[in-house]
Amino acid sequence: MHKIGIVGGGQLGRMMLQQAANYPIETYVLENDANAPAAHLCHHFHLGKITDYETVLAFGRKVDVITIEIENVSVEALFQLEKEGVTVIPKPSVLQTIKDKGLQKQFYESNQIASPEFLLLNNKEEVTANESFFPAAQKLRTGGYDGKGVHLLWNSEDLVEAFDAPSVLEKLVDIEKEIAVIVAKNESGDTAVYPPTEMVFDPDLNLVDYLLAPANISTELTETAKQLALKVCNAFNSPGIFAVEMFLNKQGELLVNETAPRVHNSGHQSIEGNYVSQFDMLLRVLQNLPLGSTETIKPALMLNILGEKNHSGNAVYEGLENILQLEGVSIHLYGKAQTKPGRKMGHVTVIGDNYRELLSKAAIVKTTLKVVAK
Ligand code: ADP
Repeated sequence: MHKIGIVGGGQLGRMMLQQAANYPIETYVLENDANAPAAHLCHHFHLGKITDYETVLAFGRKVDVITIEIENVSVEALFQLEKEGVTVIPKPSVLQTIKDKGLQKQFYESNQIASPEFLLLNNKEEVTANESFFPAAQKLRTGGYDGKGVHLLWNSEDLVEAFDAPSVLEKLVDIEKEIAVIVAKNESGDTAVYPPTEMVFDPDLNLVDYLLAPANISTELTETAKQLALKVCNAFNSPGIFAVEMFLNKQGELLVNETAPRVHNSGHQSIEGNYVSQFDMLLRVLQNLPLGSTETIKPALMLNILGEKNHSGNAVYEGLENILQLEGVSIHLYGKAQTKPGRKMGHVTVIGDNYRELLSKAAIVKTTLKVVAK
């Protein structure tokens, strides 16, 4: 049987494994926590640090194909595994570029992919010296995720907050909408592009509040966004699944914000909403199988279930029975024992015939379902 290894054992790995059970494969997971979301769904769990060269190397030597569910892994070990004949998806070179937001921006520039104007800076002094570039988004080159590692700098008063580390300073975009397009490519070179999804952010947590698919944009813009995402995927020149996040500015232009070379939060609704979910798609890519259809079955809305404010400790889910009585509502809990304010504990997908129906059901879910500590 084909042996497939996943570096990282979070919720993305967990959902990959739920789909992997439908294929003739043996699954391996590497993670530093024996109770991680993916730990109990794989055939072989390996306890170890995903950033450690020797650990990732030893893990990868046990499998035929290796993939990641988070970018912050030992890319050096993946390069070595690639040399030794292990199939690494996405290619380590892609991860190396994407892990560093500075290299990622230079990649877009050299491939003529529209992205906000930027400067690469080494420290806070250089940020101060470039105040004329404000308003700007300052982003740590490495280590940021879910909006941590991003500061919006409007004027000199915000300088106190600026990171004193290598960063990208990006012109602030006047955002109309944030959308994401997921593209898949297998080793044979077949590609499949999903309809764009629209991300709506929670201004307090700077996390996705809910997500709508397909995005509420014109047919023309949909086509442009899909073409742009395909261009990004082709430029990376690697098999894999790529979530291309974009800004639609007030002038109607699309600019690439960043790409994740893996399954992504913006594709969770595809489990219920599309013929082939993003997780099934990745499994097909990993086995070089036909990719199938990305078509929408029904419009979908996805809500992250976040740990309630002021609650830390053993997670308890309130309101579950109430929301499960609603037609078209599905629950996905990630198996995290401990809740913390704002922690992603799971998600809910609502499918329905139109946006109005989706939004009204989502409003019920939001006020009914709570993750508290008891
Ligand atoms: P992360 O990788 O942590 O998710 P992002 O680069 O996606 O970080 O930035 C997080 C959020 O900050 C974006 O979704 C967007 O709302 C805002 N943001 C980032 N860059 C810009 C920009 N250039 N202009 C305006 N808003 C931005």
